[in-house]
Amino acid sequence: MRTIAQLDLATKRTFIRVDFNVPLKDGVVTDATRIEAALPTLRYAREHGARIVLASHLGRPKGKPQPELSLAPVAKKLSELFGQEVPLAPDCVGAEVERRAHALAPGAALLLENLRFHPEEEANDDGFSQQLARLADVYINDAFGTAHRAHASTAGMVRYVTEHGAGCLLQKECAYLGKVLSAPARPLVAILGGAKVSDKIAVIDHLLTRVDALLIGGAMAYTFLHAQGVAVGNSLVEADRLEVARRLLEQARQRGMQLLLPVDHRVSVSPKGDQPSQIVGPSIPDGWLGVDIGPQTECRFAAEVAKAKTVFWNGPMGIFEIAAFSHGTMAMVDALVGSGALTIVGGGDSVAAVMQSGKADKISHISTGGGASLEFLEGRTLPGLAALEA
Ligand code: AMP
Repeated sequence: MRTIAQLDLATKRTFIRVDFNVPLKDGVVTDATRIEAALPTLRYAREHGARIVLASHLGRPKGKPQPELSLAPVAKKLSELFGQEVPLAPDCVGAEVERRAHALAPGAALLLENLRFHPEEEANDDGFSQQLARLADVYINDAFGTAHRAHASTAGMVRYVTEHGAGCLLQKECAYLGKVLSAPARPLVAILGGAKVSDKIAVIDHLLTRVDALLIGGAMAYTFLHAQGVAVGNSLVEADRLEVARRLLEQARQRGMQLLLPVDHRVSVSPKGDQPSQIVGPSIPDGWLGVDIGPQTECRFAAEVAKAKTVFWNGPMGIFEIAAFSHGTMAMVDALVGSGALTIVGGGDSVAAVMQSGKADKISHISTGGGASLEFLEGRTLPGLAALEA
C-alpha cells in the first residue's frame, strides 16, 4: 500500500475519503474529534499544493437527500479548524461538482455533500464509482472508520484512479492495530467488555491464539460465567451463545492462557441507576443484575495490565453511562494510563469512557473506528485497505 507521502500531489485534484460522520445537535457539530483526526492529512495535502476534494458520509440518510444530514455544519467546523474556508458542494457527483473540483486553486479545498444521499454509494455501484473517480487525479483514503465497508468511495472508485494511497490517519490506525497482531511487545493483554458476546466472538477467536491474557468484563462476562455454572441472577445472558462461550473457555484452558472473568460485581435490581447497588461475588443472587465489575476484579484486571507491554481494550466494564456504575470502566482507564505499556483503545463506548475520564492524551492510540478496529483484529481483510493494495 502506498502512502500519501509517496504520491505527487502538486496541482493534482486529490480526492480524500475522510470520516466526518460526527454527532450533530441542532445543526452544530457536538464532537469534532473525527474532523481533527483528519487534519494532518489535509495539512499535508495543502502544503504540497494539492487541489483538495473531500468526501464523507454522515448518518444514515438511506440513499435520499435529507437536509438534517447535510454536511453543511461539518463544512463550517472544518473551515474553522483547517483555518481556511472549505465550501460545501451541492452534491457529491455531477457536472456542477466536476466543474467546482476543476476550478480549485492549489491548496484550496471543497467538501462534497453526503455520499450516502445516493443509494449507489453503499451499493458500491460501478457507474457511481466512475462518477466519483472523475473528480480525482489522486485518491487518498483516510477514513479508517469505514474501511471495513466495500462502498463506492472506499473501494469501487479506487480501481479507476491509478494514483492512490493511504492518508496519515489510516496509516496510523494500521500501524497501531498492526502492533497487536504482529510481533507485539509482550505480555500482550486484551480487555473486552460491552453488551454482547455475539459481537465479539470472532475477535476473541482470533486473539485467543495471540494474547497472553484476555480479561472479559461488561455484560458479556455473564454469558461466560453462566456457561461455567456461576449464578448470575437477572444479568444479561445470551442463551444462544452459551455453547460458544464454553468452547472459547475450553480453548483458553487447553492453551494454558489466562482468560479472566469477574470474581465480584456491582449489582442492582435495575439497570437504570435509580435503585441502590451493592457488591457481591462470585455469584449473583436472584433478582439482582450485574451492572459493573467489583473492586476485587478491578484489582486483578489492573494487575494484569500493569505487567503488560501491549494492551488492547474494547468495550466498557459496566453501564458506565451511569456514574454509579462507571467505577470499573474508569479503573481500567487508570490501569492503562499507569501501565507504561503501548495502549490501544478501539470501539465507540470505550473511547467515550476514555474521553469522559479526561485522560485521552495518556493513551498511545485511540482508534477512530469501532467496527473497523474489531474487524482488523479479527484478522479480516478490510475492503478499504484491500482496494489500496491493488
Ligand atoms: P458495546 O457496544 O458492545 O461495546 O456495548 C456497550 C454498552 O454495553 C454500553 O452502553 C454499556 O452500558 C453496556 N454494558 C456494559 N456492561 C453492562 C452490563 N453489565 N449490563 C448491561 N449493559 C452493559
